Amino acid sequence: MSKLLIVGTVAFDEIETPFGKTDKILGGAATYIGLSAANFNTESAIVSVVGQDFPEKHLNLFREQNINLDGLQVVADGRTFFWKGRYHNDMNTRDTLETQLNVLADFEPKVPDHFLDSDIIMLGNLHPAVQMSVIEQVKAPKLIILDTMIFWMDTTLDLLKEVIAKIDVITINDEEARQLSGEYSLVKAAKKIHEMGPKYVVIKKGEHGALLFHDDEIFFAPALPLEEVFDPTGAGDTFAGGFAGYLAETKDTSFENMKKAIVYGSNLASFCVEKFGTERMKNLDIEEINGRLKEFKSLTQFEINLT
Ligand code: AMP
Repeated sequence: MSKLLIVGTVAFDEIETPFGKTDKILGGAATYIGLSAANFNTESAIVSVVGQDFPEKHLNLFREQNINLDGLQVVADGRTFFWKGRYHNDMNTRDTLETQLNVLADFEPKVPDHFLDSDIIMLGNLHPAVQMSVIEQVKAPKLIILDTMIFWMDTTLDLLKEVIAKIDVITINDEEARQLSGEYSLVKAAKKIHEMGPKYVVIKKGEHGALLFHDDEIFFAPALPLEEVFDPTGAGDTFAGGFAGYLAETKDTSFENMKKAIVYGSNLASFCVEKFGTERMKNLDIEEINGRLKEFKSLTQFEINLT
């Protein structure tokens, strides 16, 4: 079985959408990636940090999904990373109201021995120094995927660029791609980002789907049109978790297989947004995942006879 190493925040989130607001609930990039990747046949582990305020029931949720927590440090007297965001009426854009790094500020990651030979590293959102340290610890990964956020471009761009130079696939959203490249056209943005290092560039466009760029090839997968989007938090991470999980399960990192991985990622993200926080991702079953994949297929399949 392939080993998938997941790095990213494990967090408390407070979310406001036009449909309501939450108290402090479970969130974080690694959380969503882990719950999404758990739907695939891989051995996965989370490398992250939480404070003593992080409840056992959340740790048990990861354990129930067979996610290894040997690399999740619990800092005595520390407080867990906290993020507060408010979505606009379009549900595609949001404002970050607060980011408290807390225990993340001094975090030194330690990859568990059993995962030093991981096949795929999924570097979710967190400090680029942590992402770099994990890259340096893992022996010979077959694929390194990275996600990041405007927050890290604003605060530590030089180091982020050093990390980007070492990875194979970047998955970012359209706003982030534009800021990172300085280009408005996503085609031009992808070209510039290729030049920074990654052979594959995935640009997520929320309800408008995702694009995969590789050399001169482009693949596009739509997002499933949903009647109701309740809370988009974590959709990008859930997408990344599905993408990485599928590649780990199939042990095939070709462009052709990445196209399928994009569809699997989009499919899982479509569930994530249906309820607040991680609620919908906790108890997904294989029938509903496969049922929606069929909808995806019929949504996008057509025959045109070209003479
Ligand atoms: P997404 O909606 O996929 O962009 O991810 C939302 C998740 O990212 C939330 O659960 C937050 O806890 C987490 N998050 C927010 N800001 C940051 C940040 N600066 N670094 C790492 N994770 C973050």
